[in-house]
Amino acid sequence: EHKSQKLSLFYESGVYSFDDSNAVFVDSVRVLNRFYHRFSVSPSLYYSRFFKTQTTPNAVSSTVTPSPRKRKRKRRESRPLNERELIALQRHQEARPLLLAAHECLLKSTEVLNALKTLKSEPSCSTKECDGGQRSFVDLGHVAPQLEVTLSLRLSDNDADPHPLPKDLDDLPSGQCCVEKVLRAFNNLVANDTQDDAVAKILSNSYIMPRESCFYMSDLGQIRNLIPAHADSGFNLIMVDPPWENASAHQKSRYQTLPNRYFLSLPIKQLTHTEGALVALWVTNREKLRCFIEAELFPTWGVSYAATFYWLKVKENGSLICDLDLFHHRPYECLILGYSPGKVNNTDNLSEFKPVKNDRVIMSIPGDYSRKPQIADLLLEHVPGLKPPRCIELFAREILAGWVSWGNEPLYFQDSKHFVKK
Ligand code: SAM
Repeated sequence: EHKSQKLSLFYESGVYSFDDSNAVFVDSVRVLNRFYHRFSVSPSLYYSRFFKTQTTPNAVSSTVTPSPRKRKRKRRESRPLNERELIALQRHQEARPLLLAAHECLLKSTEVLNALKTLKSEPSCSTKECDGGQRSFVDLGHVAPQLEVTLSLRLSDNDADPHPLPKDLDDLPSGQCCVEKVLRAFNNLVANDTQDDAVAKILSNSYIMPRESCFYMSDLGQIRNLIPAHADSGFNLIMVDPPWENASAHQKSRYQTLPNRYFLSLPIKQLTHTEGALVALWVTNREKLRCFIEAELFPTWGVSYAATFYWLKVKENGSLICDLDLFHHRPYECLILGYSPGKVNNTDNLSEFKPVKNDRVIMSIPGDYSRKPQIADLLLEHVPGLKPPRCIELFAREILAGWVSWGNEPLYFQDSKHFVKK
């Protein structure tokens, strides 16, 4: 069967760009799997919300009798909108045509829709294994801050070589040797600086680390330990997904949330590389947060606003996860982009990267609760400074090849139960 060049590229990279459009489709599983050698993330685990087909008796009954919360929400929607809600509605009306046009591209692309149908057939672990309880790093950090992590690293001859390493891992010589490193798990930079996947053991659980990745697991109070000693070893891409408080106290979160004032203290300036950084900030659809970012957060960080991207969430059949016009539950979230200036005040610098275009629409099937899609590829050309850039994710729940991941549970999605052995 004829496979278009774009489709081949999608299979390789996980990113599909639609012609003459700002829209892309991202398969985060394919993106992540570029960075693993001996393990792979299986789509049915990553996209478990959509690939679990069994309907439980509970699910059936909840569609028959609406929960009290749903009824309450309905009442709220029938009263006139307040000033802030009107601004939110206006923002939505502006984004709407863009989102619809992007979605239309996906619905018209039979090759992408067909590719999505095949996701389900990829290997997976038994549901029982995958649903097992997740260890809480937040609790562990409190009760056992001295806990150790044992890293099993596979060194190849190349790892001792200061010259660039071959990117194709299959080319590595088979004569690899294993080393074990025991390090403090919390408040410590733990790195897999080899070209192969590493296994990190904490108590009885194993976590998979992709090549050239590192994590710093700590509370916000220790984040300043990540500030580099020299500004030229700072970061060129800073991705932030804060634990924003929810709109309603009833809405349960799967992680601790923090009041906005805590985010003002993030040391964005100090983490920025001398040549500047692109800051990418995830935000939920609360107008209050948008105002906070524009009026307080970006100015305090010294970040100038550059553009807004939209993440439009679709199901495995390409349809939106919910109605585009539901007021309190939108099928999209925003990524706000801005620039943190570096210390080099040289205008040549600015010509080295393409300023971000507004209004890109990234479509993907959402993973677990609040897990964000893998979109770094789309940002790279807009990152100032070094190539490849130095990247850091703040409030991370997973670790990525070539990145530093900081948060109080950066190994959350690295648990071996999320992976299958190749
Ligand atoms: N970007 C992540 C992803 O795609 O999975 C989701 C990040 S989630 C919105 C926010 C994270 O911040 C959670 O893992 C939460 O545990 C963490 N967090 C909350 N309070 C924290 C604190 N005081 N210090 C460090 N991390 C914190």
